[in-house]
Amino acid sequence: MVVVGIESTAHTASVGVVDESARVLAVASDMYRPPRGGIHPREAANHHVELFPGLVTRALEEAHARPTEVDAVAFAQGPGLGPCLRAGATVARTLALVWDRPLVPVNHCVAHLEIARAMSGLDDPLLLYTSGGNTQVIAYGSGRYRVLGETLDIGIGNFLDKLWIELGGTFPGGPALEAEAKLGQELLALPYSVHGMDVAFSGMLTAALAQSARGAARTDLAYSVETTAYAMLTEVTERALAHRRKEAVVLGGGVACNERLRGMVRAMAEGRGAAMFAPERRMCVDNGAMIAWTGYLALGEGLSVPIEASGIEPRQRTDRVGAPWRRAGTAGA
Ligand code: AMP
Ligand code: MG
Repeated sequence: MVVVGIESTAHTASVGVVDESARVLAVASDMYRPPRGGIHPREAANHHVELFPGLVTRALEEAHARPTEVDAVAFAQGPGLGPCLRAGATVARTLALVWDRPLVPVNHCVAHLEIARAMSGLDDPLLLYTSGGNTQVIAYGSGRYRVLGETLDIGIGNFLDKLWIELGGTFPGGPALEAEAKLGQELLALPYSVHGMDVAFSGMLTAALAQSARGAARTDLAYSVETTAYAMLTEVTERALAHRRKEAVVLGGGVACNERLRGMVRAMAEGRGAAMFAPERRMCVDNGAMIAWTGYLALGEGLSVPIEASGIEPRQRTDRVGAPWRRAGTAGA
């Protein structure tokens, strides 16, 4: 069984190919990088429209798969930026029609969790999902994935990107701030915003920019922002592990590439006797393989849709879609 997955929720256009044992046969991706400022959805979508034909060809070549050998086409239905989602959905519909194969819609956040589950071999982990637009703690319970905690304002990645751009850098800010943070020496006071299981970052953004205006070194700012923000995420993840009695945590999303975040969550998990797994970087960031794999799982439950019912859902919530393929595994109620 070979499934092609199309990812286009935000800045990354990606085509992945997987088989029935979650072997990644190919990933062909291209990330839209705005010359300055943040992502403009329309411009990112134009990038995707231009790049997708080449990415499909590249992915099939890399997978040594002919179109006739593809069994299904999956696509990220949401959540994401409308114009970007539409670009990917159009490609997926076209391929499904031309190849005469089932079309399978996939929730992007669930896909991050499923690929981490497949790569780690962990049956029922909690997911700390930290990306540009999303920051959520997710766990399976009673038929679907539940959001146990999330950001009340902006995603952690958007927060890091905005800060870095305001400090004079360019998108993406996360990796640049990580390098800068390694040189930091002083821990500056920043708001630590944990509200029950939820977190918030906009206050920290304002405070960090105020510190910068007062002359704080960029290295110290980066170090302090990472320390504070990742401690907040580690705290809510620990509480989720304890309350849901989960024995493992996996990471997903672009910010999960960060060594410091990985280290803090690992130390917390190990301290509790829980397992921690961070997928390789190309599987942390947005990619078509995770969509293909989740599409494969959904297809096994008959969750393909006719073209007319394949509309995008920019605000689709993790807990609005089912995960019936989990029934056979751990109940995890
Ligand atoms: P995603 O939306 O999941 O594709 O992830 C993109 C986000 O991940 C952007 O906001 C990046 O700044 C952020 N990111 C990527 N690498 C790192 C890193 N090493 N540390 C922190 N953030 C990162
Ligand atoms: Mg993502």
